[in-house]
This record gives sequence, C-alpha cells and structure tokens, in this order.
Amino acid sequence: MRLSKVSRIFATLAAAAMATLGLTAVQAAPASAAVRNVCYNTSQAGPFASYANQAATIWNNYTNNINMAQCGSNLVISYTYGGGSYAQRTSLGNGRVVIDYYQAQQYSPLRIMTHEIGHILGLPDNYNGNCALLMSGGSAGTSCTNPYPSSAEAARVDSLFGFAARTATGAGVFTGSWPAPATAGAQR
Ligand SMILES: [Zn+2]
Repeated sequence: MRLSKVSRIFATLAAAAMATLGLTAVQAAPASAAVRNVCYNTSQAGPFASYANQAATIWNNYTNNINMAQCGSNLVISYTYGGGSYAQRTSLGNGRVVIDYYQAQQYSPLRIMTHEIGHILGLPDNYNGNCALLMSGGSAGTSCTNPYPSSAEAARVDSLFGFAARTATGAGVFTGSWPAPATAGAQR
C-alpha cells in the first residue's frame, strides 16, 4: 500500500513535470518550428503524379504541423496493376504508397491517394462506411469521392507530428483498403 501511494505520487509528479515541459516547449518555440517536411517523390507515380500533388496540397491545407513538398524521397509514390492500393509506412512520414491502376478506375483516385498518404502520416483504417471520413477507404463505396480528411483525422496527424508523440506511430503495412469488385481481378 505504501508502494502504491509512492507510485501514485510519482505518477502525479511525472505528469506535472511533463505538462510543464510541454508548456515550456510550446511557449519557447514559434509555431513554425513544429512544421515538419514530408518529402515525396513522384518519379515512379506515372499517371498518378498529379493526384499525389493534389493530395499533398490537401494535407498541407488541412494540417498545421506538416509540409508536403517534392523535396526528397521520404515518401515514394508509385503504382501497379492489380493487387490493391496500399501504403507501406517505415516510420512516421516515411514509406511508400502504391496505387492500383485498376482500383483507381473504380474508386476516386484522389481519395485513394489522400487516404494512402494518410497512413504514411500516421492514420489507421476506419472501415465504418462513412464517406465523411478519409480513412473509411473503400468501405464508403465507389460513389464516395471525398478526398478530404475530417477535422478529427487532420487533428490526429497534427498531434502525431507535434511536439509530444513522434515515437507513437511506427512501421506498418496497410493493404486491402479498397476491396476491388470481382470484375477487376479478371482484368489483369
Ligand atoms: Zn487504408
């Protein structure tokens, strides 16, 4: 019991210390110091390069803590024929997005692109069928063309790229976000 009390006190002190540190960091640094570049490369993106640029603009407009630009190859955009679009995140803001050419004929290519980049920016899938969410992916159906993150999705990205939680989101591979109709398989 004494131990648990000591633990509680320690936890309280640690929380207070972290809060103090966080507050100090916010006050000491200008807002722009939090912005982190996410450098994407479209040299392998083929017909989807323009969608990558549009998706980057969307993410830049909806977030405060990232700036997507063609300043390097932290994020490689490419495409393939069949097998499904996916994102391979090696760490927060780094990895590869692969767009399935056939899938992009069924679903909105811009929504696919913005969604897959969302994985690179730290977001998980949320297959609840809600077209208002970007990360609902293909669960919202082929008629859903919304390419914009919800305010909560954008806020989550800002949080991940903010001062505190940069180590919270590590590697991951995200496949099957856009289940293709049966006819797509026959096209290969
Ligand atoms: Zn997904």
